[in-house]
Amino acid sequence: MALANCRRCGRLFNKTGHDVCPSCIHEEENKIAEIRDYLRQHPLANIYEVSQGTRATYEEIVDLIRRGKLLLRQYPNMTYPCERCGAPTQSGQLCMNCAQELSAEIQMGERKYSAKKPYKENRNTGFYSKE
Ligand SMILES: [Zn+2]
Ligand SMILES: [Zn+2]
Repeated sequence: MALANCRRCGRLFNKTGHDVCPSCIHEEENKIAEIRDYLRQHPLANIYEVSQGTRATYEEIVDLIRRGKLLLRQYPNMTYPCERCGAPTQSGQLCMNCAQELSAEIQMGERKYSAKKPYKENRNTGFYSKE
């Protein structure tokens, strides 16, 4: 049995794979149901409108989308800015472009890193020389 503090309300609870307590999970499920209801009635709503029409805040809605709890394919206006470039996005932290660019950069970075290794060693040995 592992006790943990709920990530949301801070209450101690019996951790069972979640990082929020059962009452917060329940609360979140209620909010998701509210948001879905609202979107069914207002398919063209944006996140601000949904946060005004339900008990969920803007941040909570974005958080739910990022965690994949809300799927928005049918709701074109439910977008939030990409963390990198600010373009409207509907899932994850980054827009499609940035996600692609970033994974390309990571691959390049890996290549660069392995190419840089000998250079780094040279630099270390030259550390005490006057340059
Ligand atoms: Zn809680
Ligand atoms: Zn982006």
